Amino acid sequence: MPLYEFRCQNCKNRVSIRQSYAEYGVAPVTCPICGSQKLSRLIGRVRIAKGEDRRMEDMSDPSFFGDVDESDPKSLARAMKKMGQEMGEDLPPEFDEITGRLESGEDPESIEQSMPDLGGGMDGGGMGGMGGMDDF
Ligand SMILES: [Zn+2]
Repeated sequence: MPLYEFRCQNCKNRVSIRQSYAEYGVAPVTCPICGSQKLSRLIGRVRIAKGEDRRMEDMSDPSFFGDVDESDPKSLARAMKKMGQEMGEDLPPEFDEITGRLESGEDPESIEQSMPDLGGGMDGGGMGGMGGMDDF
């Protein structure tokens, strides 16, 4: 099962929680540090447990996302859509809206600000978290 990253709204820690695709977005998640259930998903920062799902392993290849320009919303949208296709079902409901707005050229920062539910998942250099997926 893949690891999903969440931001705890209570203790502000970023936590990784292992869920199945079926559980993701459905099952309640609890902060392992403080026990709060006020966790926000960090979109675009899914960590893949190596070897557990070969389909997802491709995404740890730096070349998977190709020539993503993190300063170009349209390029980001393409990368996110490609990732979404790899993930198949169970995309967060915000996914289509985010990619759609990126494609229309909207600044990721302003999208995040308009969607507080994201909990700052796109901060810290935009989608830069993707580059960290190979640092197992
Ligand atoms: Zn917490």
